[in-house]
Amino acid sequence: MARPVVKKEFSLSDRVYLIEIIKGLGLTWKHFLFNFRACFRPGPHTVPTCWQYPEDLREIAPIFRGAHMLLLDEKGREKCVGCGMCARACPAKCITVKRGKVQEGEEGKYAGKTYCAEFKIDMLRCIFCGFCEEACPKGAIVLGQEYELAEYTPEKCLYDKARLLANYEKAKSEGKLKPARKPVPVEAPPPKAAPKSKPKAAAKKVKEKEGTKQA
Ligand code: SF4
Ligand code: SF4
Repeated sequence: MARPVVKKEFSLSDRVYLIEIIKGLGLTWKHFLFNFRACFRPGPHTVPTCWQYPEDLREIAPIFRGAHMLLLDEKGREKCVGCGMCARACPAKCITVKRGKVQEGEEGKYAGKTYCAEFKIDMLRCIFCGFCEEACPKGAIVLGQEYELAEYTPEKCLYDKARLLANYEKAKSEGKLKPARKPVPVEAPPPKAAPKSKPKAAAKKVKEKEGTKQA
């Protein structure tokens, strides 16, 4: 059904638009003066509408996943045992690990009996999913808070073990280490019900019956 068109009656001020224009300009000036005054406030984040990167750096959430690092334990030994679990869990297939056996006299350098002789991450392929961190049984690899990862050449985006260890040292010195992950509680499986076994005597009787039937 057609609806009748109701024509709105505009007042003189509506038709001139002057008051609305003044209202709009007032709002613009209000925001301009607010931001202008904020420019002179001391400290970082001076302009609320615009972060002055790189002078103003935002705080990073503790769960942020940035550049990887290989951790050392409290005795300064490499935690990584070169098991390759991280490489297997990586969906982008960007981790390469080669395992080596710890020789006599090297126990002070490595926490396990084996170590990663070679560890490479191709950061150009990494999608920062964090699966490697979750898969590591030793808590040896962590995605830190470093996000300024641009390089001039692709070769520099191939992080080797030395770079990953250096990332750890840097984060440690800057106090940017993540707190250790809490182990995920795993419920113990319910005890298996014992299989129902027929009493030996009953089983014997059944066999005897079957034997007489056949005869
Ligand atoms: S964060 Fe994800 S994609 Fe990157 S190395 Fe780890 S598992 Fe691979
Ligand atoms: S970082 Fe962890 S999962 Fe990867 S090789 Fe080392 S110990 Fe294994």
